[in-house]
Amino acid sequence: MSANELRRDYLLDRWAVIAVERKRRPTDFVKEVEEKKVKVCPFCPDNEHMTPPAVLVYVPSNGSIRKERDQNGFRHKGWLIRCFPNLYPAFTPADQEENVQIKEDTVLAKAFGHHEVIAESPHHDEHPGVARIPQLVHVINAYLDRLNALSAKTYTQYVSIFRNHKRDAGASLSHTHTQLISTPFVPRIVAEEMEASRRFWVKNKRCTFCEIIKKERDSPRFIWENDSFVAFAPWASVHPLEFWIFPKRHQPTLLDMSRAEIEDLAVALRICLGGLKSLLKDPPYNFGFHIALSKEASDYYHWHLEVYPKLTIWAGFEKSTGIFINVVPPEDAAESLREAVQKEEKGLVAKV
Ligand SMILES: [Zn+2]
Ligand SMILES: [Zn+2]
Ligand SMILES: [Zn+2]
Repeated sequence: MSANELRRDYLLDRWAVIAVERKRRPTDFVKEVEEKKVKVCPFCPDNEHMTPPAVLVYVPSNGSIRKERDQNGFRHKGWLIRCFPNLYPAFTPADQEENVQIKEDTVLAKAFGHHEVIAESPHHDEHPGVARIPQLVHVINAYLDRLNALSAKTYTQYVSIFRNHKRDAGASLSHTHTQLISTPFVPRIVAEEMEASRRFWVKNKRCTFCEIIKKERDSPRFIWENDSFVAFAPWASVHPLEFWIFPKRHQPTLLDMSRAEIEDLAVALRICLGGLKSLLKDPPYNFGFHIALSKEASDYYHWHLEVYPKLTIWAGFEKSTGIFINVVPPEDAAESLREAVQKEEKGLVAKV
């Protein structure tokens, strides 16, 4: 019997067991789950009064976009994008600008921050894997607008932009949406990536992420690329079919994207998530952006999007040790995703 492989993450002190002995094919995970239909969707047009006043609304106006806010009892209608505070926030705003210092030995602090929802389309089912490209451009622009607004608060150290797709991945509502949470410290995983990439930069005066991208573009884990973005299955994937999307140009946060890059990211989301959807019949997944807001990190941190399909369950070993058993080698995942994504791209080009 040949031994399974132990793989360490590029930067994190995190190990994955690539279980070749119990290996499964990506398509073994196809599982069609009927999502529960809700009678009244609070995120759908005409139900705006069911959510708090919007902090940002995109309203079409003479061929361009007007940015608005809801005031008091008034709710804007006819929107393309609508962003509002989460009704059950994990983090809540401070009454006034407060400089919350969470030092190393802090064990108790106030969860000051913001927790927002972005309804990505007035169409309930316009998820990024099927969305129109111009709509996805609005979605990304809304990420940037809110990232700008939230990162300007003195108590914000980080802004997490993440998406839960389907109930099995934690989405309580099926209307297409993204969430943002700003936190008074940099979360552990991002902080660890930052520290490791800082050390690499001090030693080599190069960005370790730029090096990873260069290597993975020519590896069996490569999935897809356009002018500005590249997608690949990470070397030590901890989830079956996990993939990451990186901007090719070195940039610490999404806020540095050019207009062309925003368009290219919209296409990357549409093609990669569309490929995942068609390969596994719309599986549940989570995604999260990793960014650096601090000026110091701009030389060595390189933002990216990590996509985690939710196909297996983390059980006792994973939860108690932080070592993950992955039954789909990233190379196999990449091969299947590569094919699915190419088909997706052809379909999209044919439609235009
Ligand atoms: Zn809806
Ligand atoms: Zn870089
Ligand atoms: Zn990351």
